[in-house]
Amino acid sequence: MKKILVTGGAGYIGSHTVVELINAGYTPIIVDSLTNSNKFIIYQIERITGTHLNFYQIDLCDEREIKDIIRSEPDIHDVIHFAAYKSVAESVADPLKYYKNNLYSLINLLDAFKGREVNFVFSSSCTVYGQPDRLPVSENSPLKKAESPYGNTKQIAEQLLEELTTADFNFRVISLRYFNPVGAHHSGLIGELPVGVPQTLFPFITQTATGRRSIKQLTVHGNDYNTPDGTCIRDFIHVVDLAKAHVAALAYMGKNSSKKYNVFNIGTGKGLSVLQVIKEFELTTGIKLNFNIGPRRNGDIEKIWSDVSKSEKLLNWKAQIGLKEMIRSAWAWENN
Ligand code: NAD
Repeated sequence: MKKILVTGGAGYIGSHTVVELINAGYTPIIVDSLTNSNKFIIYQIERITGTHLNFYQIDLCDEREIKDIIRSEPDIHDVIHFAAYKSVAESVADPLKYYKNNLYSLINLLDAFKGREVNFVFSSSCTVYGQPDRLPVSENSPLKKAESPYGNTKQIAEQLLEELTTADFNFRVISLRYFNPVGAHHSGLIGELPVGVPQTLFPFITQTATGRRSIKQLTVHGNDYNTPDGTCIRDFIHVVDLAKAHVAALAYMGKNSSKKYNVFNIGTGKGLSVLQVIKEFELTTGIKLNFNIGPRRNGDIEKIWSDVSKSEKLLNWKAQIGLKEMIRSAWAWENN
């Protein structure tokens, strides 16, 4: 059994990935501060997989704690680094919180592995592209100036990792640029757990549909964009498909032919508008959504979807799950 360190493994994408890693024969060691997640997710993963998990509740910004763990685990050679703050809006309001957490945690983690041979997968984001000039956006598209401190932490992290692989022959790194992860595990036992008012479309929809939100209405931020129905377009990907991409990335890094530093888009290759998702939610669940059209939101990109030909070819991975199942699983999770 191959040990793998998973930071942020109690979070939304991390928890689904831990399940897929166990399915693929890995033994995950989870490190999470639980600042944006809950211990019960660890128990839920154990229920799904029938395994006992190694879990350390630490803050990666504490250099000493992560060093102690890595020192006590000399046979870890694979790492997936999910741990980070992820709210664009919060990062605009409090940039320092984002630069400190997202960069200190990465630097401490890399430092803890200094001198060791490591295959490292980093959670990047399509935010690094800004609003691309051409769609679909490929890994060769130029990166635009980041629209938010959050996006900038991803750009800085990617640059740091690339520089590290040129300087340090022991590191091999893949940055996965996620598009928009949605949905939940088919068991209904794990899913997205937003703290406070959701910032993303799917939990906003499902919470509005249950009537559990204090504001009983979903706001669509702008319908005057240059898109067929005027609302923003995103490339929504089921979180289990995204989780499987990490297993594929690790397998690829295990091959000698893989480059020291590489970047892959992880999406479906299809763009869907906000209104298309709302309509499909109503069709799939039979629930009429109470929504209104509000003004555009600062920092929102008009449209983006991925060119996934590189991931499909080199990682031998392809998103399989469609919009109906994204909605059905998100709805089942919300009702749990
Ligand atoms: P999440 O908030 O659900 O999970 C992140 C986890 O990291 C949480 O459990 C949190 O407690 C933990 N964490 C944060 N800072 C930490 C620290 N200093 N030390 C230890 N643990 C810490 O977020 P997610 O949606 O699962 O995202 C995972 C990664 O993917 C993040 O890096 C995020 O930026 C990136 N990403 C997410 C999305 C998305 O839409 N969800 C899109 C693109 C990229």
